[in-house]
Amino acid sequence: MTTYTPMMQQFLSIKSEYEDAFLFYRLGDFYELFFDDAVKASQILEITLTGRDAGTPERIPMCGVPYHSAKGYIETLVSKGYKVAICEQTEDPKQAKGVVRREVVQLITPGTITEGKTIDGKTNHYIASAEQLSENSFAFAYLDVSTGEANSSIIEGGIKSLLQQLQTYHIREIVVTEQLQILLAEQASQLGIVLSIEKEEMDEVQAGPYLIHLPEALQGVAKSLLQYIERTQMRSLSHIQPFTYTELKQFLRIDSNSKRNLELLQSIRGGDQKGTLLWLLDETVTAMGGRKLKQWLHQPLASENGINGRLNIVTDLLDEFFIRNELRELLKSVYDLERLAGRVAFGNVGGRDLAQLRESLRQVPMIREQLMESGKETLSALGEGLDTCVEVEQLLARAITDNPPIAVKEGDVIRDSYDERLDELRYASRNGKDWIASLEQKEREITGIKNLKIGYNRIFGYYIEITKSQLGNVDLSRYTRKQTLANAERFITEELKEKEAIILNAEEQSLALEYDLFVALREEIKVFIPRLQALASAISELDVYIGFAVVSEKYRFVRPTFHSGRALKIVNGRHPVVEKMLHKQTYVPNDCILTEDKNMMLITGPNMSGKSTYMRQVALIVVLAQMGCYVPANEAVLPITDQIFTRIGAADDLAAGQSTFMVEMLESQHAITNATERSLLLFDEIGRGTSTYDGMALAQSMMEFIHHEIGANTLFSTHYHELTALEDELARLQNVHVSATEKGGRVVFLHKVKKGAADKSYGVHVAQLAEMPEAIIERARVLLEEFESSSRGSIGEIKDKVEESSELQLSLFEEEVAGSVGASLADEESDVVSDAEREVLQQL
Ligand code: ADP
Repeated sequence: MTTYTPMMQQFLSIKSEYEDAFLFYRLGDFYELFFDDAVKASQILEITLTGRDAGTPERIPMCGVPYHSAKGYIETLVSKGYKVAICEQTEDPKQAKGVVRREVVQLITPGTITEGKTIDGKTNHYIASAEQLSENSFAFAYLDVSTGEANSSIIEGGIKSLLQQLQTYHIREIVVTEQLQILLAEQASQLGIVLSIEKEEMDEVQAGPYLIHLPEALQGVAKSLLQYIERTQMRSLSHIQPFTYTELKQFLRIDSNSKRNLELLQSIRGGDQKGTLLWLLDETVTAMGGRKLKQWLHQPLASENGINGRLNIVTDLLDEFFIRNELRELLKSVYDLERLAGRVAFGNVGGRDLAQLRESLRQVPMIREQLMESGKETLSALGEGLDTCVEVEQLLARAITDNPPIAVKEGDVIRDSYDERLDELRYASRNGKDWIASLEQKEREITGIKNLKIGYNRIFGYYIEITKSQLGNVDLSRYTRKQTLANAERFITEELKEKEAIILNAEEQSLALEYDLFVALREEIKVFIPRLQALASAISELDVYIGFAVVSEKYRFVRPTFHSGRALKIVNGRHPVVEKMLHKQTYVPNDCILTEDKNMMLITGPNMSGKSTYMRQVALIVVLAQMGCYVPANEAVLPITDQIFTRIGAADDLAAGQSTFMVEMLESQHAITNATERSLLLFDEIGRGTSTYDGMALAQSMMEFIHHEIGANTLFSTHYHELTALEDELARLQNVHVSATEKGGRVVFLHKVKKGAADKSYGVHVAQLAEMPEAIIERARVLLEEFESSSRGSIGEIKDKVEESSELQLSLFEEEVAGSVGASLADEESDVVSDAEREVLQQL
């Protein structure tokens, strides 16, 4: 039988409630970890593992971190996916009988951490919860503990869609039921997502206010998420906003693969944001605006009214150059209101935070005025909608000093004349200090010692210091010796002690009072949190609108218009990101005309001619337009698109452990099963991951299916020239090609999209220019003619020939290009499909 010391028994009993977390057990100035926690943490945090007597024969493992530097260690653990339970002493150790009472005051988890280096100002940090509703659908809720923003939706499309959603919002932690945990365990761990189980739901009464917008099906997930947050945070949730319910239909839906393919928020190569649409678009000047922009980019709108509402504001801002600039300057002085409000609610707001809140609120009346005086209807309405929260500003102006320190307990946070009692205490302390200064003067006069001084230290308090060489000149009977130094003696007097007591007492009381006043002030401000949040939201939208205007002007965008049909007309459209990256070269603009009757395009053209760029530019224009931004074109008349699907080859697919071709097929399958006639489909080089015959057959059957069954606006690119013949069979299909030419024996890419299929003999022609042996050229011509004459036969008939021809054409062509463009040429290998992959494919 082991009998642990009482303290260790306390530890074990608390620890048993937090099995899945590191328990940081407060012991004096340290947080200590014991047993396995200690062993593991000492490795992860690279701190020394020691031992401790625990009443047992063996010492138990222990390690610890000083409480004042604990933050960094906690962040490290949490960023690695662990949870940390903070266990504090909850009674004064001096007053404790027996073991000091201790309680866990917060459970910090990957999804609920609100501060530290892992939290980026311009990114929301969400925690989610999910529940299975039916085989294919999930209730999904997610909220940002730092800002209080809470949302929910119903996800269709099975576990795959759920996982996509988790990736889209960079979810680090999801609250689930045990059943769902089993279902998600493997994939979640691959994605580095922590699954946390919550068995209870917050009770109806308490949860009520948060659920007012939610349909029945979503209340459960919302309640268990709230319960989890309450259980882990153990403090006020007053800043959490009612959950919004977004019916996904309200938005242009873009799955996370397509977001990546189109490089909306992340570049395909990963790494920084350079080269993404976000990188081009982010002209916001506040952190809140940055987050709002990302939200809009994740979810462009799908209602004409909504979109036009946004566009109207951008138009008016574009008209008002000076107002726009003025507003932008004002916004630069607005801090992160949303997170500040969160900290007020959380009770971890500091003096400096409140000063930032005050500074931010001071800008609002000026922002309002600028908007109201613009004479533009939309801007006036925005201004009118701004709640200046003047009460909070006034309160803070009265209460908080100009430059308060971060820590509240240091004092100097509350302004003079805010509170009478505080003024009195401060007066007493300041007065006492003046008295001491005058005492020094007086003592110097009495003793005649010029360097006599009065000092202060924490242990002895105030003292009179006289150097040893001067001691002989002093009447020591007036003094009591307190401390002897190498070259001086320190004394006190009765009088000095009395004053000291008054000063220290007043100081201590004043600090304590100041802290109380601060806490009361914080409570007072709490009432305003919903108003502050509404203000934050309005300000962040304004920031995004101004950013849109800035971008639209800078890159010469135009306002898109919408109509209820399916036709799409883009005149001189550009890919804004490629254009920006081109530096000195000029981007070649291209039209894209899809009509009601001809809304599928087959794009041919040599490798590197710009097919993929062209397709992406159409998608980006649709995304920008539906976000409410102007678009890079001379004219854009657009339908309201409901979903965008892309299948665009990306080298990094391989990293995920699936073959390129398998990924290609999975993405195509996803698109084909979910697309509607209001969707936009981009299929780049479908079938290139398998053998020619195989790939061509698949490409053709997919095109036919989309044509007959779906009717979506579709752009297809291919290097299978044979597919261009489909134009005759599929009424809504048109051929276009991206032109290239040769000049002085070199291939010149014109990047211009033109009607009709690419010149078929182009490759042979280039081969000739490259002075390929005449015999090869001749043979190629003959073969080409043969294929041409049999081109409308079944694919089977021409299978072998096609295989030869297209490989020949490609390789000849590439050699020439490689000579002229050099290393910039992309690889164009056809992957050979293994038997195993084929098997998987067959099971699709
Ligand atoms: P493909 O898909 O035909 O292989 P890409 O679309 O990848 O070709 O384009 C290759 C490169 O050509 C791009 O990276 C870009 O630098 C350039 N490019 C593409 N389209 C244009 C254009 N319209 N104007 C200027 N440069 C372009």
